[in-house]
Amino acid sequence: MKYISTRNQAEIVSFEEAVVKGLAQNKGLFVPQHIPLLPVDFFNNMNTRSNEDIACELLSFFTKESIDAVSLEAIVAQTLSFPTPIVPIKDNIYALELFHGPTQAFKDVGARFMSRCLAHFVKNKKVTILVATSGDTGSAVANGFFEVEGVEVVILFPKGKVSPYQEYQMTSLGKNIQVLEVEGTFDDCQSLVKQAFDDENLNSQRNLSSANSINIARLLPQMLYYFFAYKDLLSTQPKELLFSVPSGNLGNLTAGILAKKMGLPANFLAAMNTNDTFDLYLKSGNYSPKSSVFTYSNAMDVGAPSNFERLEYLYKGQWELMQAEIQSLSVDNVTTVQQMQQVYEQNNYILDPHGAVGMYCLEQKLKEGQTGIFLETAHPKKFEQIVRKAIPSFPNAVVDLGGCQKTTIRKNYEDLRDFLAD
Ligand SMILES: *Cc1c(COP(=O)(O)O)cnc(C)c1O
Repeated sequence: MKYISTRNQAEIVSFEEAVVKGLAQNKGLFVPQHIPLLPVDFFNNMNTRSNEDIACELLSFFTKESIDAVSLEAIVAQTLSFPTPIVPIKDNIYALELFHGPTQAFKDVGARFMSRCLAHFVKNKKVTILVATSGDTGSAVANGFFEVEGVEVVILFPKGKVSPYQEYQMTSLGKNIQVLEVEGTFDDCQSLVKQAFDDENLNSQRNLSSANSINIARLLPQMLYYFFAYKDLLSTQPKELLFSVPSGNLGNLTAGILAKKMGLPANFLAAMNTNDTFDLYLKSGNYSPKSSVFTYSNAMDVGAPSNFERLEYLYKGQWELMQAEIQSLSVDNVTTVQQMQQVYEQNNYILDPHGAVGMYCLEQKLKEGQTGIFLETAHPKKFEQIVRKAIPSFPNAVVDLGGCQKTTIRKNYEDLRDFLAD
């Protein structure tokens, strides 16, 4: 499989190049040059096979020219080191829980796969991954690269601007994960990282690389859990499946559509908060990105979803095709909290705000004869303050930063350079 850029069909690269580069020229995104269609037998035989086995077959279509079968097996085993169970919530509605990984959000799946692919490609060279974070990405990347051979990770976060729980998730690891607390803002952190990438001396010394969020290696493994969910439901003889995907940058939705294009018999619903750029696009055919607004489901506060370009590619740039296959709905904060409250009282299940958006939209759109699955993208304790608006008794997370390690630096490039040069 070759990969092409969404902005230039003539830019053709291998999987290895796509992963190592991260971004195509002119800010294009890498996409697979074609989508393999699975035979019907694949689906009929699914429930006799392990998830790892299925994952290797699916991913090898996309990676086999760059990663041998034995290495892929090891990468898959490390990527799927936690379960993604299907949990019944009420009649015909299931939660697909994606929060059983080390940082309790689905981003662990993509971060783990990407980190292992990158480590495979750089082999004996030592690389340093440099990331600026405002909270969540840093912890997923840190955990994704934790104890990966040959890779050092340096994370910069703005002092006092991440939650204690997020800080704990980054600073409690140690080993190959180093954390810098910057006396400045997130923008200062980003600017320091950029200066380091522009510093040729440092670059040749440390082999710097980024853990770009739109790396194709983060997207591909996210298609797997849609197949696993289908497999898990086979024994219940499900009706037509409808997946509701709480969406921000549309990565999870794009991975689901990829699964659909490969033959997975399922329908998709994009569940959004009031950042509704994609909902408006599906309704009108006009794509108008805008600034994001703050909501209770803040990991979905995206006004210009980065994977929109990949979805356009999958639908050949044709709005009619996309809106015929993808449903959408947008929900406000009040409804999100009501949903959490109601599901807790009636079904004894604690939703996180993102899952609440997903489940609410699912209930609105689910038709007679369909089985609904919403993605529960994070553990409620990651968003405990919001959860307490609906469920006041929800406990405070206890965080002990005692054994944690970080280094404080000023927002001067010299401080970062000196730290990295050591
Ligand atoms: C990132 C994130 C989302 C949004 O996913 P996209 O792939 O960006 O659409 C939803 N929920 C949680 C908890 C997230 O961290």
